[in-house]
Amino acid sequence: MEKHQTLIGVLAMQGAFAEHVKALEKAGARTRLVRTREDLAGLDGIVLPGGESTTMTMLMERVGLLEPLREAIEHGLATLATCAGMIVLARDVTDGMPEQHGLGVLDIGVRRNGYGRQVDSFEAPLDIDGLDGKTFPGVFIRAPLVERTGDVQVIASYDDHPVAVRQGRILALCFHPELSGDQRLHREFVRMAGMDGTQA
Ligand code: GLN
Repeated sequence: MEKHQTLIGVLAMQGAFAEHVKALEKAGARTRLVRTREDLAGLDGIVLPGGESTTMTMLMERVGLLEPLREAIEHGLATLATCAGMIVLARDVTDGMPEQHGLGVLDIGVRRNGYGRQVDSFEAPLDIDGLDGKTFPGVFIRAPLVERTGDVQVIASYDDHPVAVRQGRILALCFHPELSGDQRLHREFVRMAGMDGTQA
């Protein structure tokens, strides 16, 4: 029997989704762009990319994707969220737009653009639990600052703030692994998504 190749959806409302597709394919997954609720069917995992969290949630609400996606994640769909994607998942968002409704499924509080608008982007070497070898090049672009963590596992911090957290089958990052040229986190995510989880 042919081995099932892990199928990862990449939310493609807006933002940095093309780079995730490339990184996931290098990491051995099949990919599908997700733009409607129908696109969720049969996925082993989903990536919520960077971009603009306000626009992303507004577009998801408009096409009726917000609620089905929340349900799928709550039922165990493996999820990799980067930057704006992390904001979309977070339970509490500070400095969001008044009408910004996220998914609220990840037990953290974030401040949008919390590293300061003047420091738009920076790179920092990160020690990430569970990744062997050298540090991971963390590319931060108008990143959210994690100000509160609840029942999550912090797997990397920078400057005394968490920058990578896990909660069950959710992996959420303040930075952009798809822009780093380092596929280790995408590989780890594809492996996690391929394990016994619930398919959407
Ligand atoms: N500042 C953006 C937001 O609030 C996130 C930036 C990013 O994803 N690179 O949505």
